[in-house]
Amino acid sequence: MNYPSTFKSLNAGGSKAEPKPHKPCLLLAAIDMIAAGEAASEATSEATREAGGDADAGGGRIAWSQRLRERFRGYFDIVRSEARRDRPNPELPFYHLGSDGFWRPRGASGEQLHKPPRRSDEGAYAEIDAGLLDAIRDEAARQELRAALIQTYFPSKTDEVWAHVKLMDESGRLTKRLLELPGVDDDGAQQIREEAAAYGQDVRTAAFRDAVVPAYDFACAACGLRLMTDDSWLAQACHLIPWSVAHDDDPRNGIALCPNHHWAMDRDLIAPGPDRVWHVSAELDERREGDRRLLELKDAKILGPASGWERFAPREDALAWRVGRLG
Ligand SMILES: [Zn+2]
Repeated sequence: MNYPSTFKSLNAGGSKAEPKPHKPCLLLAAIDMIAAGEAASEATSEATREAGGDADAGGGRIAWSQRLRERFRGYFDIVRSEARRDRPNPELPFYHLGSDGFWRPRGASGEQLHKPPRRSDEGAYAEIDAGLLDAIRDEAARQELRAALIQTYFPSKTDEVWAHVKLMDESGRLTKRLLELPGVDDDGAQQIREEAAAYGQDVRTAAFRDAVVPAYDFACAACGLRLMTDDSWLAQACHLIPWSVAHDDDPRNGIALCPNHHWAMDRDLIAPGPDRVWHVSAELDERREGDRRLLELKDAKILGPASGWERFAPREDALAWRVGRLG
């Protein structure tokens, strides 16, 4: 199959002059996932090839995940039309791409889907041709596929969409590097910090968030609040020693907090300590309702990182710096 040409003639819906953006947005998101190594299962495609190499029988897997929907939303918000009342419903292209010949939506046990997945159907996935997977993994072919989608469906927004592609690629690369930090020596760590510092702030912010928040399973390390919608979440990645002070995007210089506790930590009202419990400022006054809520945090255990992510727990020096700031 000639994939760039297939991508240009998707059965996208809408009018010929103004096709709907859903399918191209989902494909751009899926390409980003594969490029970042977050999607396709290599084992699946290798096994398929060894079993006879029938391109239609297997290939990559794109999970029906929060991550995919979040990435879809990133593109969708750039190209959506208010006039056309575009709705961000990724389950529709996830299902309807099944009619374009290279994408097969499946349920958790591999059965063919006969309707769009629900948001809670976390086991669902789409299987794509092995040939398409190979094309996406090749940088030149990947750019050709993206260009086919962007020029065909978003001719008036090409600059914005390409800028987002670049942000996704660069932040994906940087996240991977940041996650290597717990396993490298001092020289290696210095090199990664310098690499990070060379990127623009938007890339660093996105990469730091993706390195920190999943390690806490998207929950606040103070109150445990974990709020997620279909394509976004509440918890924020917070630097322990601020970027402006240390230029340090090590995920162990970070912690996930809800906006309230982020605000309180940034104002030195609360701080996580090297003894792995929360400390509170002596300035807090228990006669004030809001202060009382923060005072309740005193000596509470720092929540997280989640099981399996322990190596990303905050560094002792970063925690000590924070506690030292408390009034
Ligand atoms: Zn909180």
